[in-house]
Amino acid sequence: GLTGGIGSGKTAASDHLATHGIAVVDADVAARQVVAPGQPALARIAEMFGRQLLLADGSLDRRALREIVFGNPEQLRRLEAITHPAIEAELQRQLQAAASPYAVLVSPLLLETRQHRMAQRILLIDAPETLQLERASQRDNSSPTQIQAIIAQQMARAEKRKRAHDILLNDGSLA
Ligand code: ATP
Repeated sequence: GLTGGIGSGKTAASDHLATHGIAVVDADVAARQVVAPGQPALARIAEMFGRQLLLADGSLDRRALREIVFGNPEQLRRLEAITHPAIEAELQRQLQAAASPYAVLVSPLLLETRQHRMAQRILLIDAPETLQLERASQRDNSSPTQIQAIIAQQMARAEKRKRAHDILLNDGSLA
């Protein structure tokens, strides 16, 4: 299990492992796959929150859904009761299909969700907050204030460090 805060370098680290032939399974990708048109989780979301969330092409109106759950813990809980088990099942499926000696599950929410139970070892990609802000705001072309707000929502760095088996301090060059 590979995790870390926004802009810590999870993708940079897992891309490197992939070049060594290690199977990489990405929770963000799985989260999008399970709400693709035709998926049961999407139908359940439309049932629970309204069919107006389906765009003309049958895909999910993510912005409208975000507006419903933003700042509303009860609605967020109802949404996650649909999405989290579907994501977990998809991750299990992809991990089981891996043919490399071990597989890596990359997830920004590995420790915040039940996903960490799927991993035998947890690798934290750790970076000082100033670097997280710099790297993520440059990459996403967003303001450090927006990145700061996301960092504030994520599990504290110190807490993650306590729960990881291995820590890769990503404060130098990529090499
Ligand atoms: P998120 O959770 O937002 O998806 P992440 O943890 O996957 O982020 P990356 O996308 O890997 O983070 O890294 C953020 C940005 O910083 C990227 O543009 C990446 O190329 C760059 N980066 C990562 N590590 C380093 C490094 N050691 N030196 C320079 N740039 C880096």
